[in-house]
Amino acid sequence: MKDNNKNLPVIKNKNYEMTIDDIGINGEGIGKIDGYTLFVEGALPNEVIEVKVVKTRKNFGFGKLINIIKPSEERQQPVCKIAKRCGGCQLQHLSYKAQLQYKRKKVQDVIERIGNITDVQVKETIGMEEPYYYRNKVQFPVGKSIEGDVTIGFYSMRSHHIVTTDKCYIQDSINEEIISKIKSFIINNNIKAYDEKTHRGLIRHIVTRTSHHSQEIMVGIVINGDKIPNEKKLVDSLKEIDRVTGIFISINKEKTNVIMGDKINILWGKSHLIDYIGDTAYKISPLSFYQVNPIQTYKLYSKTLEYADLIGDEVVWDAYCGIGTISLFIANKCKKVLGVEIVPQAIEDAKENAKMNNITNAEFYTGKAEQVITDKYKEGIKADVIIVDPPRKGCDTELLDTIIKMQPNKVVYVSCDPATMARDVKILGEGGYRVEMIQPVDMFPQTVHVECCVKLIRKD
Ligand code: SAH
Repeated sequence: MKDNNKNLPVIKNKNYEMTIDDIGINGEGIGKIDGYTLFVEGALPNEVIEVKVVKTRKNFGFGKLINIIKPSEERQQPVCKIAKRCGGCQLQHLSYKAQLQYKRKKVQDVIERIGNITDVQVKETIGMEEPYYYRNKVQFPVGKSIEGDVTIGFYSMRSHHIVTTDKCYIQDSINEEIISKIKSFIINNNIKAYDEKTHRGLIRHIVTRTSHHSQEIMVGIVINGDKIPNEKKLVDSLKEIDRVTGIFISINKEKTNVIMGDKINILWGKSHLIDYIGDTAYKISPLSFYQVNPIQTYKLYSKTLEYADLIGDEVVWDAYCGIGTISLFIANKCKKVLGVEIVPQAIEDAKENAKMNNITNAEFYTGKAEQVITDKYKEGIKADVIIVDPPRKGCDTELLDTIIKMQPNKVVYVSCDPATMARDVKILGEGGYRVEMIQPVDMFPQTVHVECCVKLIRKD
């Protein structure tokens, strides 16, 4: 489609005054000029702004925020100096109360528009008391600035340009010390940062993982090579930080956006962390998937358990179970829980986690949820409750078909993308399930992401 359409109510590169009505899925302000929709990054609902039209399409366009004529009452000064440039947080300029309302509305909108459900009121988003410093896992890209200096930080919005980050308000502040030590080591030992374009240079990413329970930290360095020169110096320097209990390298020589390589070498200390969610302990290895906000994960899993409404004699499927987190959290409330997950290493972790917690009524299967649950159903295994926690793309239709055939009393849908959840819930609705409750949980304060937990029950 060509830019600069002639019959539009706006002209490219001209400035206009407009009112913002809504927030889009990426946190951008949305408003209309003479019926023509404009998306404006950084603008908030109820604001009157001066905007410059920068791109026009037939039905909508994009504007640059030039001046805020009347600010929203919910606008706040971002705590982070680089909030505008860094791609990590999209909503720091919006009060936390309004962020939670925005997330509730985002879920309500898709459940009506995509899910075709108009008789369910989405509950208020469960937020955090302190919506900062929550992340237990951080992955910092390492690169070179235009001047040739080593830079460590985060990618800016929709790009791979690294914004140098000395302080980040959504992660553990101990990372500042870790990053500063690694940066000095790289500079003093004349080590090259990785360059994505040429696929040369050694240091690609710094990865840290924290146990919320013990406060221990593992530090990983992802390298495009086999070894770090003078690595003992680096280890000695990082060991000085009390909370650091393990240091590893991850070898990744591929031309890829995937951060970690499959091979992990422990340079010093422990090979894993132990964390707790409620009373359940989990072993977390450098490559294991684990929810990034432990405080909110407890609230999300508690809601999942509440929605599953178990009395003790049920068989439960936990589909997309990862390292068995939800399975083990609910195991002592039901007769048996069956977990299925596609990543073999995660299933090994799940089995080990079951042993560590002395849980004997959990079984884990490696494979695609849609295949394993369908095959087991054909063998006669039926569940009373099915919990699904799929990745962003949602559930495979084969799994939804099997659920509809199996007819469990309840389905609890844990979702990290409300749009695919709404699509799947519609299919389950046509197959005999009614949505009873929808609870958004804010796992990612300051960002546009929202997690939610949905309770579906059989209509008959
Ligand atoms: N319930 C877990 C993990 C949720 S993330 C937790 O709360 O920690 C979604 C998981 O689904 C990931 O571990 C991913 O590896 C897995 N996955 C993706 N596609 C799958 C499929 N078709 N079948 C089973 N698991 C799948």
